[in-house]
Order: sequence, then structure tokens, then C-alpha cells
Amino acid sequence: MSPKSPVTVTFLGGLGEIGRNCAAIEADGRILLVDCGLMFPDADMLGVDLVLPDFTWLLENGDRVEGCIVTHGHEDHHGALSFLLRELSFPLFGSALTLALARNRIEESGLLDRTELIVVGDRERRAIGPFDCEFIPVTHSVPHGFATAIHTPQGTILHSGDFKLDLTPVDGRLTDLAAIGAIAEDEGIRLLLSDSTNADQHGHSRSETSIGRVLFDLFHAHEGRRIVTTCFASHIHRIQQIADAAISFDRVVATLGLSMRKNVRLAREMGLLTIPDDRLRDIDEVGDLEPGRVCVISTGSQGEPMSALTLMANRESKFLKLGADDTVILSSHPIPGNEMNVSKVIDGLMRLGVQVVHSGIEDVHATGHAKSEELKTFLSIAKPQWFIPVHGEYRHLVSHAALGRQMGVAADRVLLCEDGDRVQLTDDGLRRLDRVPAGYLYVDGSGIGDVSHGVLRDRRVLADEGVVVVIVGVDVDSASIVIGPEVITRGWVHAAEAEDLLDECRQIVAQEVKQALADDPTGDVEALSRVVRRSTGRFVSDRTRRRPMIVPVVLES
Ligand SMILES: [Zn+2]
Ligand SMILES: [Zn+2]
Repeated sequence: MSPKSPVTVTFLGGLGEIGRNCAAIEADGRILLVDCGLMFPDADMLGVDLVLPDFTWLLENGDRVEGCIVTHGHEDHHGALSFLLRELSFPLFGSALTLALARNRIEESGLLDRTELIVVGDRERRAIGPFDCEFIPVTHSVPHGFATAIHTPQGTILHSGDFKLDLTPVDGRLTDLAAIGAIAEDEGIRLLLSDSTNADQHGHSRSETSIGRVLFDLFHAHEGRRIVTTCFASHIHRIQQIADAAISFDRVVATLGLSMRKNVRLAREMGLLTIPDDRLRDIDEVGDLEPGRVCVISTGSQGEPMSALTLMANRESKFLKLGADDTVILSSHPIPGNEMNVSKVIDGLMRLGVQVVHSGIEDVHATGHAKSEELKTFLSIAKPQWFIPVHGEYRHLVSHAALGRQMGVAADRVLLCEDGDRVQLTDDGLRRLDRVPAGYLYVDGSGIGDVSHGVLRDRRVLADEGVVVVIVGVDVDSASIVIGPEVITRGWVHAAEAEDLLDECRQIVAQEVKQALADDPTGDVEALSRVVRRSTGRFVSDRTRRRPMIVPVVLES
């Protein structure tokens, strides 16, 4: 029998970090992307607004991209498409809600004509080029997510997407374990790629509907007070449960924040969110209503600096002034990196006299990601021959790998991969190929200029140490200094307190420049700049133990 053609998987993001999920699957010379997401920057990525997958390899192979499956509506799974679609053109496949959410950024970037949005339904099986794909329902913190079974010449690759095993989801749409079990029994699952976000959390995630009961009790306990709630704007089921609790206590509902308003309108139009017309009010109309009759659903659950909730906490909201009659419920959990911002918002609200309920004191949030017991269940049903944990920081991937071995996947068939790794399935099994570039691609506010590592390094030095600019004018003919040296600093020493230090610095630089001119009367500007930089740097380091950025400016007359 002739060997079957190999199938390759390239991980471009999401293995080693939470976010910028992107995998490329190759068969018969064609490439199918599974997700193309963005990541929000860490605090040390100064001035960076978004982090994207490294597209170097994809762009080199751009003509081979058949399309992209978008597993669900979170931006860490589709937010980079509005950048990749500038360079490449290909169709997107996903549920109606997923594509409606993904559409926003693409439309804002004016790129809708570069793609086609192709809606697929639960359990639908369709060919995307040479890829025979089956879309399997999963529960998650945004409705209508998919796991994808990709039937290839090398067997079936199952990509879990983001998922949990919620047995009582708000919409009754369960993770279709039976479908996965059928594939496992039938042809078998050759390779499983599965969400690791909560792999190091023990037990089982709570059902989304359990949050509804907690919310109901809170609305009961806070009767007569105005209630402002926050959650992710894409968490349609949470929004539904907040609205249900509000309506059962005879409140009207108003949305606050652009994405919340947009998503509520979208989900109602799609029939995924039920709030009767007569219960919905514009945010402008609720200020005068009796507090106990109002529920506001707002953005800002992560303490984002410009969000509606942060503005309220800082008394800067033009819509609502919060005070002692208000209760704020943060129906969310800060994602790593946002804890500080969330604490600041809670402090701000409490200073206004607001009663604040958050996930630390009440069970007002349930995760959207499977914990270890659920992951084990999933593994026991999928029974993969090979297993690669995806979606998570390195420690999550390691924990998930251990669960895989525990559930009977042979130890040498559980692979720990990271961004940039490539693996290939052949008749002989799974092997590693050479890596591809997978660094962070930084994007700043304008969304146009990419921020390089060098720029970021400079920003860190400026933030940590400040800058010292030294200006010297020289006359080559007379081999003398005609201007300065002037020493200007920001962030190194407070100039007023350090006049002596700056004087000393000027003298030392002057000495060294004169010496250099004496040694080499041609007065090469480059060489003099190096002299200025070196002498200033040495002085600054010796005297203050600091390493600010030194910018020499040598002028020649
Ligand atoms: Zn997600
Ligand atoms: Zn995710």
C-alpha cells in the first residue's frame, strides 16, 4: 500500500500564553487556519495596544491558505483577522453568532471585501478545500462555540476550541460528547488538540445556570437600591441571567458601554437573548427612575481604563453618578494582569459609598474553561492516539499533558509544544519538524505602525531609568568645542537638585571631547558621538548607579 500523504500542524500562537490563538493545519499543500486571535499586552509592553501572532510563515505561504475556522466569538480567537486580512484574502467559517462578533473589527478595518463569512451549523460537515470538517457544539462563556473534527488522510484531528462541560447551560446546548464518542469509536481520533486554560484547577467548573440563582438572591437582598452589573459584553448567557433577575424584581434594564449595547442588540436580533421591549430602556432615561426599579448592565468588568465602569468609579461618567444608594455587581473574574485595575475600580466605587459585590465574596462568576475533571472526561471519551495540549501558559500545558497520560495516552504520544512548533502526522506517527518564527507582533494604538522589540526595549529603559541628552558643537578647523556641552535630562536626576552633578558631567564630557579632537583632528562625528556616549554613560553609572538612555548629539561647524 502506498503511504498516505502527511498532515502538518503549525502552532502560531496560544501555546505558552493565554491569547492570540492560531493554528495552521496543512494537507495536500493547502492550509486551514483554526482561529486567528489577538492578545492584550502585559503592563511591561509599554504603549502596546495589541499583540498578534507572528505572520511571517503564513505570509510566505499565503497563496496556500484555504480559509479560517473561527471556533467562537472571543477576540483572542478572531481579533487578529483584521490584520491578516490586509495581506491575505480567504473565507471564514463559524457559527452565525461567532461570525457576527468577528465581523465587527474586520468591518471597522474596511476589510469585509477581503473575506467571505460562511455560517456553519451544529454537527454540520463540510469540505473546506481538501479538509473535511465537522462542527461539534461546545459550551463556553460565549454561546455557539465549536470543537472541530478535521478528517484528514492521516486520520481525524480533533480541535476542542475553548470549552467546558456545562451540563445545564443557559441555552440547553450541551458539549456534544456523544458526537466525539462516535468519532472516537468509529474511525478513532488520531490527534487531539485541547484547551488547557484551567488544566491546573482541580475539580469541575460550575454551571452557568448556578450563577443565575446567586444573582437572583443578590437582587433580592439589594431590593430598593439601584443595581449596576458588569460582565463581558460577549457573555450573552450571563447578560440573559442578569436581565432575568432584574425583570423578576420588576426592574427595567439599560445597557451602558458601546460593546454592551451593540452585542445586546445583535443577540436580541438573532433570537439568542430575550429581553422584552418594554423592559429595555435607554441609559439616558434611567437617571430619574426610582433606584429600586433600575438595573444597568455595563462594560468594564476588567477595570479597563476607559470603560464605562471605570468612568463611574472615577465620577467621570456622563450617564450615571453612583453613590450610597447603588450596588455594583462585578459578575466576572479579573483575567491575569487585570487584577490591579479591577482593585482600583472597586476602591473607587467604595469611596463613593457604593456597595460592591465581586467574585471574591459571592459566586457571581463561573469560568468558561474546563477544569481538570472535565478535561479528564473529555480525554476519556476522545481517547486520542496522540495528544498536544493547546491554549494556555506553559504551566497549564504541562498540567494538561499530565492529565493526558493519566487518562491513558501513552507517555511518548503526549507532546508539549510551544508557539512556532510544527508537527507532522505520517503513517509512522507524529514527529516534530523545524520551528517557524513565532515571536510577538506588537501593534500600537494607530493599528498601523508595528512596534519592534527595539522600540519596546527603548521604552522600558526610558520608563525605568530616564534619558540624558548631551549636545556638543565642535569646530573641526580649530579642533575646539563651540557649543556646550549641554546636558539635558528627564527621569534621571531632578535637574534642580543636581546642578553640581550636571556641571561635573559637562566638564568630563568637554575634557574627553577635547582629547578626542586632539587625537584625531578630522573630527569624525560618529566617533565623537561614541566618545560623548561612553564618557557620559560611565560618569552617570559611577556617580548614580543608574543606566539611563544616553543620547549624544554632536554638531559640526
Ligand atoms: Zn474563549
Ligand atoms: Zn480562548
